[in-house]
Amino acid sequence: MPKKKKSFQAPKGTFDILPSAQNVWETLRFTASRLADDFSYRRIDTPIIESSQLFETSVGTATDIVQKQMYTFKTSGGDVLTLRPEGTAPVARAYIENGLYNQPSPQKFFYMGPMFRYEQPQSGRFRQFHQFGFEVIGDEDPIYDAQLVQMIFALFDDFKITNLMVKVNSIGCKKCRQTFRNALIKYYKPQAKHLCKDCKTRLKDNPLRLLDCKDEKCIKVRSGSPQILDFLCGGCRKHFTEFLEILDEIEIRYTLDPYLVRGLDYYTKTVFEFFISNEENKDSRLPKSSSGPAIGGGGRYDDLYHLLGGRNTPAVGLAIGMERMMSIMQKNDVKLIAKKFPPVFLAYLGVPAKRKVIKLLSQLRHAGIVAGESFGKTSIGAQMKVADKIGAFYTVILGQKEILDNTAIIRDMHSGMQETVPRAKLIEVLKKRLG
Ligand code: AMP
Repeated sequence: MPKKKKSFQAPKGTFDILPSAQNVWETLRFTASRLADDFSYRRIDTPIIESSQLFETSVGTATDIVQKQMYTFKTSGGDVLTLRPEGTAPVARAYIENGLYNQPSPQKFFYMGPMFRYEQPQSGRFRQFHQFGFEVIGDEDPIYDAQLVQMIFALFDDFKITNLMVKVNSIGCKKCRQTFRNALIKYYKPQAKHLCKDCKTRLKDNPLRLLDCKDEKCIKVRSGSPQILDFLCGGCRKHFTEFLEILDEIEIRYTLDPYLVRGLDYYTKTVFEFFISNEENKDSRLPKSSSGPAIGGGGRYDDLYHLLGGRNTPAVGLAIGMERMMSIMQKNDVKLIAKKFPPVFLAYLGVPAKRKVIKLLSQLRHAGIVAGESFGKTSIGAQMKVADKIGAFYTVILGQKEILDNTAIIRDMHSGMQETVPRAKLIEVLKKRLG
């Protein structure tokens, strides 16, 4: 019995982006890049692989990302590398490594690309997913925290989606967070037996994360827990108040969420996450509740650059999950960027004409005319059907006679009128017709 051939599948939690889905991807990529340009954020691209230590040092060893989700491997040269699980640490590494601090501050960056996390795949959660993000490096002014939030509202506005909401909180600086941490441990310790398994570990490793656990039991315990805002030092309180005042000033709706902590070690002060609200927000300034998972989030990381061996550099940034964003775009019937279709189609009859067509395609391209073809179909009828389907305005037909005469037939696909022109004049005539 011949062995059955193995059929391959994309690895669990990954997916192909097929041509039929490219339109929505391109619309999001284009709109996000334009947003970056509009707000003077410059594109930066970093490698997909980084040293594992970069994430251990910045994201933190007590986080889910580092403990459970990194794709880490040893190269044959002995380096331990990780497929990037997030974009902020790589940008920080690039900033320090390339001495970008020598340029005027703040510097504003935009990145976009795939990220990798070994998670349990489910709706809206993948192992390879995509994010775009913005980073402002070298300024502590909360106006930048607010500008980032403003940009995401502007993006949703561009897509005419009105029910975006943002949850905000401050987790303070190292100093005030330490006092809060102690208060949390004091509150949670006697109730440890009521917590889920993960939270029992978090109580030891990362008590702040106790606050954003989604387990019913833990949510119950949380209801009486101390709140970070009561522990903020003078500086952090002022920073947060200013941030909220600016949001008010630019008329951004926000919801204070004392349990929002963002989990990663590098955050300080402002944190925020974006959701879709259950309600339209046209009239009401304060959305009541969110539905579904976060679309994106971010915050300030004033200690990150120091952690990575750079000088003290305040910074703030955010990342948006592109798959989640696109699912919202599709639910809201966002108008997609129209795909450019070729205005001209080249049809042929016979092998010599087919060879002329491949040459002609390139000549038309040089003249700035986009043309389609269907080399795989031999009958003129089948080729005309393709021309119709792609919406070509004109079809150029080359048959045996036209090859001998050095002419071409131009067919107006709308009226059906045909004209024979000398081949030497073809480009000139087409250009005139296409205007
Ligand atoms: P985070 O910084 O982890 O909050 O991620 C920012 C955003 O990226 C999230 O709000 C999601 O939209 C998206 N994201 C994070 N992890 C995944 C994942 N495993 N699959 C799909 N999207 C994700």
